[in-house]
Amino acid sequence: MKVHNVDQYLVYGNPIQQSKSPFIHQHFAEQTHQALQYRSQLAEDDDFKLQVRSFIAAGGKGCNVTAPFKGQAFELAQSVSEEARIAGAVNTLIFNDGHIAGDNTDGRGLIADLKFHQVSMTNKRILLVGAGGAARGVLLPLLAEQPQKLIIVNRTVEKAEQLAKLIDTPVKTCGVGFADLADKPFDLIINASSASLSNDLPPLKSSLLSADTICYDMVYRASNTPFNQWAMDNGVKTTIDGLGMLVEQAAVSFEIWRGVKPETVELRKILRAQL
Ligand code: NDP
Repeated sequence: MKVHNVDQYLVYGNPIQQSKSPFIHQHFAEQTHQALQYRSQLAEDDDFKLQVRSFIAAGGKGCNVTAPFKGQAFELAQSVSEEARIAGAVNTLIFNDGHIAGDNTDGRGLIADLKFHQVSMTNKRILLVGAGGAARGVLLPLLAEQPQKLIIVNRTVEKAEQLAKLIDTPVKTCGVGFADLADKPFDLIINASSASLSNDLPPLKSSLLSADTICYDMVYRASNTPFNQWAMDNGVKTTIDGLGMLVEQAAVSFEIWRGVKPETVELRKILRAQL
């Protein structure tokens, strides 16, 4: 068995060569003077769990998990956080004395990024677009900010309805289809659908926007995402993309593993310049 003299971490995914996580975590490690190595690892559907077990046997301390293995990581974990339980998805595994703990840091990453941009969610009317893994992952941390109302809208309506029913909260929450949305502006619209990845737009009416609506797309790229461009074309003043969420969810994972909270301001600038 290969013995390493610094703590080892991995990110699993397929594809994985595009992942910014090794760069991000090496940056955090240098900044906080932590001795660790973080690499990316391609896995297949039928060998992901086996690979994780081998990594644990080789002394691995933890790993991140990205598409399409977040569900398998959830199954592998022997205990999970409440966020991961609602999401049914794990993006962070922590190995401790043979125990595998699972967490989902996407939601805390989103909230940290929104706060970085001075967006308050308390008492606000929020629309969450999508009911896939990302939407599920951010639900609890969003509700913890005590919005006035949180509506989940999804193309497949049943998924939005089921998700809203999973949650036990005093916040007014419901799951609907796009055609059910009333013509009234939201304070914050979060696009947690993957529509932007295929240069597509969720079928949202412009009556859901005012100039003061804040539009957040979890997807990021050098140019505006289709969703954020649509918002700007309809007079929205503030649009934010998901690059900061990527950095912040990584910072939460890093803190869970290392007990040190890294700074994210400089890294945000570096990654933005690299897009
Ligand atoms: P899933 O595949 O689990 O879910 C996709 C969701 O998008 C579903 O709700 C689906 O609706 C909806 N959708 C897809 N295409 C369209 C469309 N054309 N119009 C309307 N709705 C559509 O993906 P994830 O939830 O894991 O990821 C969603 C997005 O969030 C991805 O783009 C991902 O890159 C991003 N993300 C970003 C992160 C960051 O750190 N910035 C972290 C995590 C995710 P239906 O149920 O009807 O199929």
